[in-house]
Amino acid sequence: MRYQPVIGLEIHCELLTNSKVFCTCQNEFGGSENTRVCPRCSGMPGTLPLLNQGAVRLAAKAGFATNCTVNGYSSFDRKNYFYPDLPKAYQITQFEHPICTDGHIDVAGGKRIRINRIHIEEDAGKLVHDDYEGVSLADYNRCGVPLIEIVTEPDFRSAEEVQDFVTQIAQRLKYAGVCDARMEQGSLRVDVNISIMPFGSEEFGTRAEIKNLNSVKSIGRAIEYEIQRQSEILDGGGKVVQETRRYNENRDDTKPLRSKEEAHDYRYFPEPDIPPVLLSEEDIEAIRKEMPELPHERSKRYTEEYGLPADDASLLTAQKEFSDFYDEAAASEPEYRMISNLMLGEVSHLLNETGSDITEVKFSPAELAKTAKLAADGTVSKGAAKEIVSIMFKDGGDPRRIAQEHGFIMDTDASGLDEVIDKVLAENADAAEKYKNGNAKLFGFIMGQAIKACGKSANPALIKEALNKKLQ
Ligand SMILES: [Zn+2]
Repeated sequence: MRYQPVIGLEIHCELLTNSKVFCTCQNEFGGSENTRVCPRCSGMPGTLPLLNQGAVRLAAKAGFATNCTVNGYSSFDRKNYFYPDLPKAYQITQFEHPICTDGHIDVAGGKRIRINRIHIEEDAGKLVHDDYEGVSLADYNRCGVPLIEIVTEPDFRSAEEVQDFVTQIAQRLKYAGVCDARMEQGSLRVDVNISIMPFGSEEFGTRAEIKNLNSVKSIGRAIEYEIQRQSEILDGGGKVVQETRRYNENRDDTKPLRSKEEAHDYRYFPEPDIPPVLLSEEDIEAIRKEMPELPHERSKRYTEEYGLPADDASLLTAQKEFSDFYDEAAASEPEYRMISNLMLGEVSHLLNETGSDITEVKFSPAELAKTAKLAADGTVSKGAAKEIVSIMFKDGGDPRRIAQEHGFIMDTDASGLDEVIDKVLAENADAAEKYKNGNAKLFGFIMGQAIKACGKSANPALIKEALNKKLQ
């Protein structure tokens, strides 16, 4: 590859307010077409927008979650364009004075990606194309749904950096209660601006914008496709055209949508019907105090205070509900490592297998913690702890009672063990002989046979001790 990609992002996130941004219509995904509309959000002449204070709070929280400055003064503008899903023929957005500016997030490898701004705006409606009837229908339910747009600097140099950034944004906004970040439902959509330049060059090439990518995977593939497409144009002596393109998931390519507009095409002017948003220092501080612990902060707590490996901490915090479950379990028994191992091991395995979610499991965080404690204090083996989790997953129940009923409580005295060990060694005389002659690897095999012979209550520590004695 002779070219270096240069990438910037615009990320649209729907805010989790109860009502829309300039009217009192319900803000909820789905519903029958055109049932959540009123004269204001359908753009009837003479109606006045009324700014939702909740949207301002959530936009400020998005700013705190991304290290931005939350501005005491911000204001709204009209962005004029015609589209059938935009009945007013303009969108209310923040152009001159956005609510948040100058943020950043660090991606894998410690590279800092700068965030230029976050502004509040309203979403447009949706067109539903009916190919059979040959018509397009307008659904205005989404008109006036509150959005923030996060705009980065063109700091990305690879698809991986972009994917890491988007994953982090989605996690942070979800933790902060700003956006549910369901990319498949379009509540978080990513526009990718991408150009290429020869390696070593300082001068950016002409960029293409790929609109509305709705999964981290599509983002990666669309970027790879664009790098390839633009490289071929430059290699053939051509010029990349500035335009907006759409990524098609099924064909795995991008196709032109329209030539890219410049800001002056939109004839922005200050929205005369909404006064500026003024936030005092106290207001801003009050919102900051409402911020919950964010995923990267939790991850840091898990490594620094709980002593978990960094990889485990980041797996635990990837999904908020999963991390909440871990936190509750860890608060009930300080068996941090053992609980983490059970969650990332057996619990994750069972969730994947059944396609279910941590919020649906039949045991409580405290019961999982109790299971971890039984394993940690040597009441049951680690293998038995996994089986207890599996039983609780299926039917629920108290871990200690399950351990007793299934005979998982480990033998604590070695009486009778000698006899079993002698039998195992007799049955595996060949392996025992080879081990004694220096084949150290065979210890694991003999140990496995002995554990099997002892059954569910096998105590690995005692067996190991007894075996070591006999095999000397
Ligand atoms: Zn409305």
